[in-house]
Amino acid sequence: MSADRLDQAADLTTAMAEYSINTIRKLARADTSNPSGTCLFCEAETDLTRRWCDAACRDSWQRGEE
Ligand SMILES: [Zn+2]
Repeated sequence: MSADRLDQAADLTTAMAEYSINTIRKLARADTSNPSGTCLFCEAETDLTRRWCDAACRDSWQRGEE
């Protein structure tokens, strides 16, 4: 196997690893369901898969957690 082919194999491996990580991250996000159905910050109603009504509430909540 030439060095070029090794490089190609390494690139492919990296691309596959990145794809896997992105998929896992998406699944992890999808798994953050919120059974209460209300925003964790302002307690407004959200749909069941969201913990906050919008990014502003999420950011405020996260800042409050620190
Ligand atoms: Zn909210």
